[in-house]
Amino acid sequence: MKKTLLEAIAERPLLGDGAMGTQLMIAGLEQGNCGEAWNLNYPERVLAIQRAYVDAGSDCLLTNTFGGSRIMLNRHSHADDVVAINAAAVRIASEAFGSRDGYVIGDIGPFGGLMQPYGEFTEAQVLDAFREQAKALVDAGADAIIIETQTSLEELGLGLQAAREAGAACVIGSMAYDVTLDGSTFRTMMGIDPERAAEFMQRHGADIIALNCGTGMDMERARQAVLRYLEITNLPIMAQPNAGQPKLVEMKVVYDETPDQMVTGVVPLIRAGASIIGGCCGSTPDHIRAFRQAIDAHSAEGRWVPSKGL
Ligand SMILES: [Zn+2]
Repeated sequence: MKKTLLEAIAERPLLGDGAMGTQLMIAGLEQGNCGEAWNLNYPERVLAIQRAYVDAGSDCLLTNTFGGSRIMLNRHSHADDVVAINAAAVRIASEAFGSRDGYVIGDIGPFGGLMQPYGEFTEAQVLDAFREQAKALVDAGADAIIIETQTSLEELGLGLQAAREAGAACVIGSMAYDVTLDGSTFRTMMGIDPERAAEFMQRHGADIIALNCGTGMDMERARQAVLRYLEITNLPIMAQPNAGQPKLVEMKVVYDETPDQMVTGVVPLIRAGASIIGGCCGSTPDHIRAFRQAIDAHSAEGRWVPSKGL
C-alpha cells in the first residue's frame, strides 16, 4: 500500500512540481482566461504539463485548481462547475503519475479579493467557497490540500479550517513572502513574517508549513524562511520558490533563473530542513529535472536526516 505523504517525507525529501500557470500560458492559455476550465475543456493539455513534471521526477503534483474556488470561477462564469473542475483536476494529476507512486496535492489559491471591512466579501462567503473546493478535491481523492500563496492569516485560517473539515489527510499552509525594499528581511504583503505564520499554522492544525511564490524570494531566501520556520515549529516544511524574478520581454513575462542557477539552492534547502522542494512561477520541467538529480545525488551520499519533528 502507498505510504501517506507524511509517512513518505519522514523517510526522504520529496520533489514537488514546477509552475502550472506559466506552463498553461506556453500551452496557449491567454492572460486573464480561466486556466482551471482547461481541466474540463482541454484535459489533455493539463495532463501533458503534469506528465512532463512526472517524467522530470516529481513525487508530488499540485492540481490545476489554484483559482478553482467558486469566487474565482465566478469571474469566468464557471461557478456552476466548481465540483467538476476540481474533481477533474485530481483525476488528471493521478493519471499523470501512471503506475508510479506519487502524491496529488489539491491546490487552493487565494479567493482573489478582500474581506470586509476592506472589501466586499464576508468571512462566511470565503469559508463556504473554500469548503466547497476542499471537499471536491478530497472527495476526488487528493492526498493532501495546500492553501497557497497566502498573505493574510485571516484567509489562511479559513482555508486551513475548510481543508480540515473536508477530511484532508494532510493540510499544508503556504505563505507568499516579499523581500522588503531595503532587502533586510521578508514578510507577506499583509505584513506577516515567517515566525508568526508558523506559530499560527501550528495552532490551526496545519501538518506541513510552506512558502511559495513571492517577490525576491530566491532559493537562498527560501532557505532562510525554512530556518525561521524551524525556530518556531517541529512540523515538516515545504518550499516552492519562483524561478527568480519576472521580467517583461517582448510583452511576455519571463523568469530569469535557469535550472542551473536555481538547482544550486536545492541541497542547501534540504540541509536547512525542507522536506518537500518544488518551484513556483517560471519553473519548468527542466528546473524540476535538475532538482531531481541534485536530490538523488544528495540522498546517495546518505546525508538525509529527517527534520526534527519527524
Ligand atoms: Zn508563483
